[in-house]
Amino acid sequence: MAGLLEGHIAAVTGGGSGIGQGICQAYAREGARVIVLDANPAGAKETVDLVASAGGKASAVTLDVTDREACKEAAAEIAKSGNISILVNNAGINRRNPMTAEPAVIAKDWDDILSINLDGMFNVTRAFLDQLRATKGRVVNIGSIQSFVHVSWPNSAAYTTSKHGVLGFTRALAAELGKDGVRVNAIGPGLIETRINAEARAKNPDMVASVMRHTPLGRPGKPEDIAGPAVFLASDMAAYVTGCIIMADGGFRTV
Ligand code: NAP
Repeated sequence: MAGLLEGHIAAVTGGGSGIGQGICQAYAREGARVIVLDANPAGAKETVDLVASAGGKASAVTLDVTDREACKEAAAEIAKSGNISILVNNAGINRRNPMTAEPAVIAKDWDDILSINLDGMFNVTRAFLDQLRATKGRVVNIGSIQSFVHVSWPNSAAYTTSKHGVLGFTRALAAELGKDGVRVNAIGPGLIETRINAEARAKNPDMVASVMRHTPLGRPGKPEDIAGPAVFLASDMAAYVTGCIIMADGGFRTV
């Protein structure tokens, strides 16, 4: 039986770890050729190897999403072997210092988080825009519970600001690109066990417990819990879905 993403070429930023790696594996399983875009070449290679060992097609491009020129160059190089029709803006970081931290520390957090989580999404989307319009493509942005609320366990204002921005960008782009047949949606993961929160989980089990008290499904998520919604949004099953965010948070926002 043909996969849901047969014939598609998908680029996934931050595809070398965690949620991005899970999405790359699921997209390849559904028949897409996957391009893993990551600043970390070792992580990207790991994903390519995982996809290949499962019989899928993937290649890696080392890319720092904050480098606007490099994004343009990568998109031009990729276009030589075919336009992408799926873009997942997933690369992201978090730091958990309060606004009252040392001014230089909090200023660096602000700059780094916004430049990766928000400017990076703009840089990559802009670089692939012509390809996405040519293929009537699909964009999937990775937001968060914090696209709506600030979860203070502890957490950074910059991260919450960036994830609110992801949702705003998703809606603006969906409104603008609908006439070109390009769909733009987001996913809002809850607490997913990946490297981004490994230290926080290890140092602060109370934090995990407090999130679980707020999570009807009663468990933290895994990258594969995000891969399903990501396949749906990229596939023709979501042909009339644009400008929305699917929450994959175990029900966090219902209680
Ligand atoms: P992760 O395991 O740390 O993966 C993030 C990936 O992005 C890493 O491979 C990282 O590379 C890469 N990356 C970082 N900066 C980059 C840059 N400038 N250019 C290109 N790639 C870069 O974290 P994750 O949990 O999978 O996070 C993926 C996305 O999900 C993020 O946007 C995050 O905010 C979002 N999210 C996560 C959770 C959660 O609970 N895990 C919840 C809500 C939303 P390095 O190896 O160099 O760091």
